[in-house]
Amino acid sequence: MIKKNTKAKKIHVKTGDTVLVVCGKDKGRRGEVLAVSPKEGKIMVRGINLVSKHVKPRRENDEGGIIRTEAALYSCKVQLVCSHCDRPTRIAHAFFGENHDEKQRVCKKCNNIV
Ligand SMILES: [Zn+2]
Repeated sequence: MIKKNTKAKKIHVKTGDTVLVVCGKDKGRRGEVLAVSPKEGKIMVRGINLVSKHVKPRRENDEGGIIRTEAALYSCKVQLVCSHCDRPTRIAHAFFGENHDEKQRVCKKCNNIV
């Protein structure tokens, strides 16, 4: 029996994070994460991976035409940009608080909480 892999993928960025695109046509550009889809392993980033969509007017006052909109891209193609040192970085997890039960994301480069 072939087991279908439908498990949600762990995504290393969250909505609102700033990310750097590391490959594809938007390589080297930064943007804010608008949405995360763990099921597909994809994210949406503002101003990144723009596609033209041809939209038909649905209602009377609607304008049809071609609009530019963001398309989802795989989360493995972006790196998180640290808000402290402003560098693309990897993330470590550390525990804080009295009982060491508060999990926080930590920048690998400057060791600040992201
Ligand atoms: Zn940092």
